[in-house]
Amino acid sequence: MENCIFCKIIAGDIPSPRLYEDDKMIVIRDIEPKAKLHYLCIPKTHFALLTEMDADRSEILKHCFTKIAEIKDQLGLQDGYRIIINQGENGGQTVHHLHIHLLGGEKLADF
Ligand code: 5GP
Ligand code: ZN
Repeated sequence: MENCIFCKIIAGDIPSPRLYEDDKMIVIRDIEPKAKLHYLCIPKTHFALLTEMDADRSEILKHCFTKIAEIKDQLGLQDGYRIIINQGENGGQTVHHLHIHLLGGEKLADF
């Protein structure tokens, strides 16, 4: 997608070190971390919202969640972590390419 910063990162047009990559997703560090460890799991397919889900996208997200659980130790998230998916204006979504925040590395504040 044109003008999508995460599509540009996935394409390699904007350099961003990948902690994990496969054919469906990448994991990078958030540029403005909100916790000691803050990663973004970004599906390689561009879509913005969970309401745009279809069978293929649902498979991709299933893969993302399965893989996150598999690689949590190598990301330093073995003691637990928080998953956030911001949706739309009220959810505070600023990048309109669906992504999964992974926060951890410390005891997170309640909310
Ligand atoms: P959202 O607010 O849409 O849920 O989250 C977007 C996240 O992407 C923010 O936490 C922001 O810090 C992060 N972000 C925005 N631009 C970049 C970038 O160019 N590189 C990386 N690594 N993170 C980014
Ligand atoms: Zn995109």
